[in-house]
Amino acid sequence: MKIGILGAGQLGRMLALAGLPMGHSFHFLDPGEGESVAGLGGFTRASFDDPDAMARFVASVDRVTFEFENVPAAAVARIASERPVAPGALALERSQDRLIEKQLFTELGIPTAPFRSIETPLDLKQAAAEIGLPAVIKTRRHGYDGKGQWVATQTGDLETAWRALGAQPLILEGFVRFRRELSIIGARDAWGGTVFYPLVENHHGDGILRLSLAPAAVEAELQAFAEGYAHRLLDTLQYEGVLALELFQVGDELFANEMAPRVHNSGHWTIEGAETSQFENHLRAVLGLPLGATASRCQSAMVNLIGSLPVDTDLLACPGAHLHLYAKQPRPGRKVGHVTITAESDPELRRRLGNLMRYLPANLLPHLPAPLVRQVAPGEILPVPGAREC
Ligand code: AMP
Repeated sequence: MKIGILGAGQLGRMLALAGLPMGHSFHFLDPGEGESVAGLGGFTRASFDDPDAMARFVASVDRVTFEFENVPAAAVARIASERPVAPGALALERSQDRLIEKQLFTELGIPTAPFRSIETPLDLKQAAAEIGLPAVIKTRRHGYDGKGQWVATQTGDLETAWRALGAQPLILEGFVRFRRELSIIGARDAWGGTVFYPLVENHHGDGILRLSLAPAAVEAELQAFAEGYAHRLLDTLQYEGVLALELFQVGDELFANEMAPRVHNSGHWTIEGAETSQFENHLRAVLGLPLGATASRCQSAMVNLIGSLPVDTDLLACPGAHLHLYAKQPRPGRKVGHVTITAESDPELRRRLGNLMRYLPANLLPHLPAPLVRQVAPGEILPVPGAREC
């Protein structure tokens, strides 16, 4: 089967790397250079709004999916009359606008931070008075990795936030004092069958995901709640493919922050750490194939490589280390790769993570949570004798 992918970043790269062994081929369309997918299939450099390029792209493939959530929903809806496309335009429409997304969560009984729609500076003042400060003010569209956000701590910040965010429709959310951030990744097939990966614990720095730990140490009840929320979304959106739901844990409760209608950075650990990777399961769903098992095979930690190359490839000497580079030119804040560390137990994973720190670019370290990734003393870093790799 020839699969067309809208978007040609690292997610497209990892989708192709999962699909090639199953005998599939790929064609990508993206307005950028497509450096991450070079050698993995055909590539068309074009805007998602270019109807002629889109028509040629669609005619050249059997099925279409996307790896970028800001592909215009209208373009995906048009493709649906020519070729099967999954997930569909509905999931894009609902997730591209933070206000519509939060309204969907509320309709489905999925808890969120309190929020208000903002059209004017006066709305902002009223919403801040109702919900209280601090509050997080976000653009409704095109925000990612913490961009398009402003945390207001006092009334005087509101005017500044309104101007800084471009005097456009916004959403104001109550500031959630979370214990930790989690995410759940689920997949739904064409017949409504679903599978869910274990919850993942995520650590951000400057609004960008830095570290994921999987499976997160959580009670079975929390996993069941998260699966229930994701299930409601998958069914309501008549979804086919992988969907990620980002959550805040407060006490024993979960609050939804946002969803991503695609494979997700917090699921990269599944390549080595789960029975079936999120990339393979996404393709299986899109292709109408049975979904694969989602159980974890070990404890995993995924560290994002952000902004700098070269990476010290001696890190591969660390037990359980797996390096993924995306063939991207480094720029500040740009994800250029990731390392997944696997281990049989949580204490061993933490020891291995501490060991890895000495090989990572220095600029990454301040963004990683100190107790988890402190550089352990020499002698302490030696792999546990007899520990099994997975
Ligand atoms: P987002 O772009 O919505 O994923 O937000 C990026 C990061 O900002 C999240 O992972 C949180 O760390 C933080 N954040 C977003 N919304 C809130 C909120 N309402 N309360 C507290 N922190 C937030």
